Amino acid sequence: MEKKKILITTAIDYTNDVIHVGQAYEKILADCTARYYRDVYGMSNVHFLTGTDEHGTTNEKAAAARNLSPKQHVDDISKRDREQIDLLNISYDRFIRTTDEDHIRIARDVFQRSYDKGDIYKGEYEGLYCEGCESYKTLTELTEDGKCPNHPTREIQKITEENYFFNWSKYSVFLKKMLNRDKFILPEGRKNEMISFIDNGIKDIPVTRPSYKLSWGIPSPIDPEQVLYVWFDALINYYTFGIQNNCWDEYTRIIHFVGKDIARWHSLLWPAMLESAGIRSPDIVYVHGFITLNGDKISKSRGNIIRPEDLVKQFGVDPVRYYFLKYGPITEDVDISLDSIKDVYNSELANGLGNLVSRIAKIAEKSNMLFPLSNDNNIYNLEWDKPMNDFRTDLVLSNIWSEISVIDKHINDNEPWKIKDTDLLHSVLSYEIEGVRKISRMLRSFMPDTAEKISIQFNQERITFREALFPRLQ
Ligand SMILES: [Zn+2]
Repeated sequence: MEKKKILITTAIDYTNDVIHVGQAYEKILADCTARYYRDVYGMSNVHFLTGTDEHGTTNEKAAAARNLSPKQHVDDISKRDREQIDLLNISYDRFIRTTDEDHIRIARDVFQRSYDKGDIYKGEYEGLYCEGCESYKTLTELTEDGKCPNHPTREIQKITEENYFFNWSKYSVFLKKMLNRDKFILPEGRKNEMISFIDNGIKDIPVTRPSYKLSWGIPSPIDPEQVLYVWFDALINYYTFGIQNNCWDEYTRIIHFVGKDIARWHSLLWPAMLESAGIRSPDIVYVHGFITLNGDKISKSRGNIIRPEDLVKQFGVDPVRYYFLKYGPITEDVDISLDSIKDVYNSELANGLGNLVSRIAKIAEKSNMLFPLSNDNNIYNLEWDKPMNDFRTDLVLSNIWSEISVIDKHINDNEPWKIKDTDLLHSVLSYEIEGVRKISRMLRSFMPDTAEKISIQFNQERITFREALFPRLQ
């Protein structure tokens, strides 16, 4: 069955701190994909979700450190996260918060369904826990000195507590089948790691924590002394939104964008939870890599946090979007630096796209000629956007930049500023102007403001130069 509706989600961010560019990358990637599908399938067929993950120990402790109640703390961080995301022009349909009333209701309902199915049972957990990951650890998952590789500055907790366990192991065969389905997990290279996790034997995990240890959580529907484990609660946010928009159904392609550190929760725990509750699984889990800054992991403890606002202030929103969509960690980790963003800005935006658009606008304006708009506006019957099937925004941008080179070459070969013959000049310029019009349509999902600025100058018969799109940076 061809699925004409699309649901796109990003991971929701912990509210222990305001998001940084490493986390914002995923929003840009998902936003570009959502805009692209809206263009192809129509606005009302695409649903796009992002938000904040607000329960759990990490949030509770961050609140205590600020002398705030957990609610005051998460209200504040969630609001500031949203401001950062808005600066990047992220076109989400809902900014969900796991403290939202409908989410709390639905999370309890999913838990209850899984319990009724017989998949949740009482037990005792004795083992290790990383509060940074909010996750149970085995010794093999820790570094040689007993630290979490993702949170080397935190102490690993030894915990013994009574909780309710989810019968995760029961779904091993189901999960393996799912992983082997074509394109369930992308890029393809991420699959083996998940398969080997299953092959090593999935162990049931606690899905509640005692409320005397953690009060900041959704109360379990079956035992008032327990709250839902934060991952069990958080993953359900996607379904909450799906229910709200009638798009968690067979007619919808459900796509989750996640970082490599949480691929396991999304491709192994989440589908098992859904299957247990009698709910369909997502279609695609797209796993991207991490960003390092000047060779270092971006983290509070290293003091090298850069937020979206810092980059947007310096370069503008579209150059930031462009840089990450082209050079972000779409498949593997990448290292970034302010210098590399500036270099790309000058060479590919100021000298590349910006220069092309200014040149043609100026010559066209000077010619005093009219350039009627073409009736053929379809850009989706060409090859340029094929890599979007695998979410490869980098490759699509390379294709668009090839179009830019073709037109640049056409200008250099024909030297329209020297042409005296008006018919010839009109035909040369028409080709170049049509090219720019097409490029502005192609750019809509990637750099929406820039596409709009080009279209204001070019989508009329009489073309006038307005302003340089990307003034050169010194
Ligand atoms: Zn950790």
